[in-house]
Amino acid sequence: MPVPFLELLPAYQELRSELDAAYHRVMDSGRYLLGGEVEAFEHEYSAWCGTRHCIGVANGLDALHLILRAMDIGIGDEVIVPSNTYIASWLAVSYAGATPVPVEPDEQTFNLAPTLLEAAITPRTKAIMVVHLYGRPTDMNPVMQIASRYGLRVLEDNAQGHGARYKGVRTGALSHAAGHSFYPGKNLGAFGDGGAVTTDDDQLADRIRVLRNYGSRLKYQNEVKGINSRLDEIQAAWLRVKLRHLDEWNERRSRVAQRYTQSLADLPHLMLPQTHPDAAPAWHLYVVRHPRRTALQTRLTEAGVGTMIHYPVPPHLSEAYAEAGIAAGSLPVAEKLAETVLSLPNGPHLTPEAQDEVIQALHSACQELA
Ligand SMILES: *Cc1c(COP(=O)(O)O)cnc(C)c1O
Repeated sequence: MPVPFLELLPAYQELRSELDAAYHRVMDSGRYLLGGEVEAFEHEYSAWCGTRHCIGVANGLDALHLILRAMDIGIGDEVIVPSNTYIASWLAVSYAGATPVPVEPDEQTFNLAPTLLEAAITPRTKAIMVVHLYGRPTDMNPVMQIASRYGLRVLEDNAQGHGARYKGVRTGALSHAAGHSFYPGKNLGAFGDGGAVTTDDDQLADRIRVLRNYGSRLKYQNEVKGINSRLDEIQAAWLRVKLRHLDEWNERRSRVAQRYTQSLADLPHLMLPQTHPDAAPAWHLYVVRHPRRTALQTRLTEAGVGTMIHYPVPPHLSEAYAEAGIAAGSLPVAEKLAETVLSLPNGPHLTPEAQDEVIQALHSACQELA
């Protein structure tokens, strides 16, 4: 039996009756944007994250971009970003008009290395964006300490982190504001696009609420040049259903991860993710490393096991950032990770039998490549 990297249909099938009921509730309400479902989701999600505010928006990219705009970060400003991330983290900075300044990750955690932060700070630096990549929380204490010493804002890209904890606190509640994505494949995935901002800052929350809706608080009274970035009532209603199951579904992901870690230990050349005692990952992705990653992926594909690479091209080497003029070789850790990482199937609906096949295929492939 082939094992696909990720299937979304089983999520619908498991919750079909609750999701269908939510759909009919919205359709029958006659209200399709910024109504009771979005408001209820905002309350429930901020309570779950442990923040004072949640503002629903159209997607994760907008969430990050709107945070930066609400922080008055724009042209001429620099925002520190991880060199190893999905390009959306960088694009949010560019959309705001500011310049992304990359800092290399720690090779073990995949996340921004706090020890390298200070060297990247200039008089133009306004903020640090951390990314809880693969659902692995960034080491936040040193980041927040350095930020406070230099008077910088900190935001989290929590697109992959729903449910992760750092020293017991959920990601999304560890900095001044966080952007969340509800893209269907994320841990809390909608059935279409969606996103949110969480924050404890009353003023920031208010500004984002206005910015997401054309800069208006009252219809046709436009205070600022906002954008259209609203969360649909339908998506909010579906997200409320899925939020009720998120802790249990994250538990399932964590069990899959534990089983990989036990069953794949000591395979030749295969590096498994290491977890810091302060960090409880949300296991959005289970990412291994191998010096002959492409050969390994080919063998797994031949064995019917779907894998993915997150991400094959670091943002600075993408055509979109050619203008930044960051030469190949100048961010060697991100470049090395891009060449060696491989994401294995993981999700709340991966069966033990399917995982057995992945484990078996990895044993054979790693022996062959030894
Ligand atoms: C998915 C993702 C985003 C963007 O979210 P969208 O909802 O697709 O806009 C941003 N950053 C990271 C790390 C992501 O994985």
